[in-house]
Amino acid sequence: MPGLDTGVQYIKGVGPKKAYRLKRLGLEKVEDILYYLPKDYEDKRKISVLAEGSCENKNLYKVAIKLPPSLIKPRRGLSILKVQVEDKSTTAQLVWFNQDYLRDRLIPGKEYLVYGKLKKDSFGIQIHNPEYKPWEGKNTSQGITPVYGLTEGITNKEMTKIIKTAMDEYLQAVKNVLPREILLKYNFIDKKEAIKQIHYPNSPESMIESRNQLAFEELLVLQLGLLKLKKTNTDNNGVSMPKHEYIDGFIENLEFELTDAQKRVLGEIMANMGSNSQMNRLVQGDVGSGKTIIGIVAMYNAVLNGYQAAMMAPTEILALQHYESLLKAFNNINIKVAFLSGNQTKKDKEFVLSELVKGRIDIIVGTHALIQTEVAFKRLGLAITDEQHRFGVRQRLTLSDKGISPDVIVMTATPIPRTLALILYGDLDISIIDELPPGRQEIKTYAVDDSMEERIYKFVSKQIDEGRQAYIVCPLIEESEKLHVMSAEELYVRLKNSVFNNHNVALLHGRMNQKEKDSIMTDFKNKRIDILISTTVIEVGVNVPNASIMLIMNAERFGLAQLHQLRGRVGRGEYQSHCILVNNSSTKLSRERMRIMQSTNDGFKISEKDLELRGPGEFFGTRQHGIPELRIANLIRDIDILKSAQKEAISIADNQSWLSDDEYSSVRESINKLFSAKTDEIMLN
Ligand code: ADP
Ligand code: MG
Repeated sequence: MPGLDTGVQYIKGVGPKKAYRLKRLGLEKVEDILYYLPKDYEDKRKISVLAEGSCENKNLYKVAIKLPPSLIKPRRGLSILKVQVEDKSTTAQLVWFNQDYLRDRLIPGKEYLVYGKLKKDSFGIQIHNPEYKPWEGKNTSQGITPVYGLTEGITNKEMTKIIKTAMDEYLQAVKNVLPREILLKYNFIDKKEAIKQIHYPNSPESMIESRNQLAFEELLVLQLGLLKLKKTNTDNNGVSMPKHEYIDGFIENLEFELTDAQKRVLGEIMANMGSNSQMNRLVQGDVGSGKTIIGIVAMYNAVLNGYQAAMMAPTEILALQHYESLLKAFNNINIKVAFLSGNQTKKDKEFVLSELVKGRIDIIVGTHALIQTEVAFKRLGLAITDEQHRFGVRQRLTLSDKGISPDVIVMTATPIPRTLALILYGDLDISIIDELPPGRQEIKTYAVDDSMEERIYKFVSKQIDEGRQAYIVCPLIEESEKLHVMSAEELYVRLKNSVFNNHNVALLHGRMNQKEKDSIMTDFKNKRIDILISTTVIEVGVNVPNASIMLIMNAERFGLAQLHQLRGRVGRGEYQSHCILVNNSSTKLSRERMRIMQSTNDGFKISEKDLELRGPGEFFGTRQHGIPELRIANLIRDIDILKSAQKEAISIADNQSWLSDDEYSSVRESINKLFSAKTDEIMLN
């Protein structure tokens, strides 16, 4: 029998063209289709009466047509078909737009089932564009039917059919993952049935129960997977690297004084390093809070204790920036710092690798090149991962596996609620830098629409004349016919040849090769470029204190977390900085999002608001935390399920037998799949 890995194009009736469209929704394999949750349901089991009908939800009504329909054409391209109906409670008007052909199908005196939302005003009740079908003596509607999230070129009807066909052909291939005892303990139903209930529930309750069952399974697999990974990681005893006597002097000599929050976090790190159990610490601090220096001091301490240290960053630009900070910090100190990335020449790389394994390099900083198999240390004592949410769990652990239980620090600007962190990372300790260095000017944020363009460019010019620099960020690299969205290339060509023809303008995007990107970033840092027009490649960590303007085009297309990260690229020096959000959407939601960005600079507050506004949003997307992507479960909404899955996982893992027991073989398979290399890929633009 064909497996769940079969490509969607092989589902009967799909084919390559629709498969291409489905891919836009992330649906590539049969399995993706089976797990594609409806975003809503239509419930046509019950017939409602018009007088008590709802304006918020669609309901089913049984009506009789009183008079022949009337068709009017108020202007070209618009026709309105109206028909007067009644049920036993009251009268209403059904209204269709541009569907003239319905006129002959709506017969006075006959009864119909109609489905839609009511609109009520002083003229009475209307239903716009209802679904309808003739009454056949009883309610012939399908009970509860799914409503799916769609993409261009696929209607809900087609999607429903695709999913139905996929279930007919492939549901048999779905196996129960959970062992029998767990199924019994939680009163779970067969997994095939649970999937069916999600698409075609017998009742709202059975839908919720089935969904929760699948979420529980997913979270149990996640928890067991994390426990298993951690097991291999913390079994051993760690290294002991007490705070060295040089450390205080080194901190004294920095060009700035550490904030109290930085001192506190460093204290926590030094205490861990001094003990001989392995440190496992998350350092969480908003953009610009000064996490890098913390890492540098910790690495220095490792080196003073005779160990090597490594720092991994998600992009080459960021890794290079850290490399430069390290060179600067150790300017007068005899410490050997090296850089490693995938883009170095083979010769350079080989040299670095051989020096590293001989212990002639003290500190190495680089991209994910650091976790390749050929990288070996002599005595790795401390492994740091910056912007950890950009790496997968396994990638992070691979770095620390390069030593024998080295101390581990992961750094992130992405806030994560403590309860969630504890569950996801277990005994990972958390340090929070909740204070920005002094003297920072609050970034002024404005939300405008594109009618302000000319004024904005004038403002940018003025800042540049005063010696500052600007970022302009666009959502796309190149022009798209479908989306009315600013592309970086288009804007670059336009601005370079018009308003900014007297300034140095450059373009930066993710499709350039690394050399080009680096040389542009270097030029920007060295002020050879005034205005950098780019995509979100500059989102993470880059530090150019002289840049004072962040102009974001089509700001409505970015998530709040991303906007906050982007804004954090300015306000890093002594100059008053500005973030201008060009919002081209007039929806209430996007206006509210812009308002939030204007009202606070605090990443933690923004994450809370984001949560309020749209439920568990991008801040809590698993991707943001380097956890494999989940299909059904949602880490915030399902926190209770997560807690019980964790409890169950701990009790299962208490007994090593699950690692070999046949009953758990499907669980183990699922873990391997969830933590596979593919889901572990880092997010790069
Ligand atoms: P992030 O936490 O976003 O990684 P960085 O480590 O890049 O922030 O620091 C941002 C900027 O603040 C850098 O230019 C850094 O040198 C500077 N900085 C860090 N700590 C302090 C401090 N205590 N006082 C003044 N400037 C600081
Ligand atoms: Mg940083």
